[in-house]
Amino acid sequence: HEVHLVYTRMRTEERMLVDALRGRGCSVETHADTDLVLPLNREPWKDGGPVLMRSMSFTRARYLSSILEVKGARVFNTARSIATCGDKALTTLALAEHDVPMPWSFLGFEQDACVAEMEQRGYPCVTKPVQGSWGRMVARVDNKHAAEGMMSMRFEMGSAQDHVALVQQYIDKPGYDLRVYVIGGAVGGMRRRSEHWVTNTARGAVPERYDVPESHAKLAERAAKAVGGEMVAVDLLETRDGAILVNEINHCVEFARSIEFTGIPLPELMAGYLVEAMR
Ligand code: ADP
Ligand code: ZN
Ligand code: MG
Repeated sequence: HEVHLVYTRMRTEERMLVDALRGRGCSVETHADTDLVLPLNREPWKDGGPVLMRSMSFTRARYLSSILEVKGARVFNTARSIATCGDKALTTLALAEHDVPMPWSFLGFEQDACVAEMEQRGYPCVTKPVQGSWGRMVARVDNKHAAEGMMSMRFEMGSAQDHVALVQQYIDKPGYDLRVYVIGGAVGGMRRRSEHWVTNTARGAVPERYDVPESHAKLAERAAKAVGGEMVAVDLLETRDGAILVNEINHCVEFARSIEFTGIPLPELMAGYLVEAMR
């Protein structure tokens, strides 16, 4: 079978993944998600080979993976896992269901009710879009005035599907967060250090060495399992007293900014996982 890679842009990651798959003897066909128009039926797509979903758009990744699975394709990550990881409310719920430790969080649908709940729970807290990445629109709320402003923006802007507020406990991190890559099992990770409380590498955080202790690896694997993720990056928050909480799980693993530093051969590990899973 051919391996199909669906992408939005051929970034460093996608090129490295194609090379790694070819290195494993796979023939690879790449497909720009913009070009795909798929009939909604059970007719197989192409030759029915496995699909590595690398679409950067959650909308496209979610629908395409669902469609391709109905057509009989094995999609990495699975449609269910993409749908869960791409939505922070559903991720949190899956973690709760599996008793994975995480910051407290709540979901609300109206400004005054959310502000009242934030007043009850206390500040600082964090609110972020249920769908989002690269640290965009992740906001720390330090007091009632900020809460009112944030909730007003959340519910006055956008359209009906945006009118949901996810609010989380603010975790006072020791200057970094932790990322564990789970490709089947935990394969390594990095610390992301920043002066800013938002520690995305897309926002300038610097990768640091992190020898993943067994307990963190186990936790990341439990979190990945909770969302059905096979190839994921699990973000952990460490509290000042060393407790570890799961923050989010990324279904489209990015590594262009960090692979030189970590030396973890993620493209080869992902290609290897896919080939093994298809045996
Ligand atoms: P994204 O999908 O945009 O990366 P995250 O939930 O991972 O969204 O938030 C981005 C970053 O913001 C995290 O890596 C972390 O540094 C910081 N952050 C997010 N939520 C919290 C929180 N509840 N407490 C402390 N820091 C947080
Ligand atoms: Zn994310
Ligand atoms: Mg993140």
